[in-house]
Amino acid sequence: MLDRPAMPRDAPSDELRARARRIGEILDHYFAQPPVPLDHVNAFELLVAVMLSAQTTDRAVNLVTPALFAKAPNPVAMAAMPVARIRTLIRTIGLAPTKAKHLRATAALLVERHAGQVPADADALEALPGVGHKTASVVLSQAFGIPAFAVDTHIHRLAARWRLSDGSNVRTTERDLEALFPAQDWGRRHLQMIYFGRAHCPARGHDPARCPICAWAADNAGAGQAASAAATKPSPRTRRR
Ligand code: SF4
Repeated sequence: MLDRPAMPRDAPSDELRARARRIGEILDHYFAQPPVPLDHVNAFELLVAVMLSAQTTDRAVNLVTPALFAKAPNPVAMAAMPVARIRTLIRTIGLAPTKAKHLRATAALLVERHAGQVPADADALEALPGVGHKTASVVLSQAFGIPAFAVDTHIHRLAARWRLSDGSNVRTTERDLEALFPAQDWGRRHLQMIYFGRAHCPARGHDPARCPICAWAADNAGAGQAASAAATKPSPRTRRR
């Protein structure tokens, strides 16, 4: 087993930077231009889609948003809709009752506080109902091009598996990844890690020696099963994120 190197916080070691560079090259090889998986045409639609995506698949979200956006293409229209109507339009995805309430409340606040616009500001976004740090980071990055490394439980666990972070929660992992990758790459790396997990990390046990990254980046070959389980299952420590 290889020695586990000191983990990054403020100043990553050369070894960690080299590891991150090599992982970045592999991610670029597999997913050179990763598309944004949630269908949208503007920041409002992206915000809504990301809010809907919690604990459900992007595909399920993309199935409901065309009808939702046809009825509520902007915050004014969404705020004018009864919660029950929104809930009906999104009923096929998980947590629809809560998400419907959050969508309407967020739309009302966008109208009230931000002249019907989605603010390009993390604090303002996170002050909206149903908008957490990860959602705000996705919107900043993908709608406004503002560097932000959105870290969900899957990215958190891949970062640990690849020894890029020993963070005990997604916020610490986010800080570590931001220290390891150039800011202009954060949005792309987020998407690439999501796509890598979906394409390469099966739900069932497998041989990590065949993995293009874990084969050399993980610190032992026997953790592939745990890693694959981790790639599909939120941990109790981080589930609230
Ligand atoms: S070993 Fe498996 S779980 Fe780990 S990164 Fe590779 S494919 Fe994913």
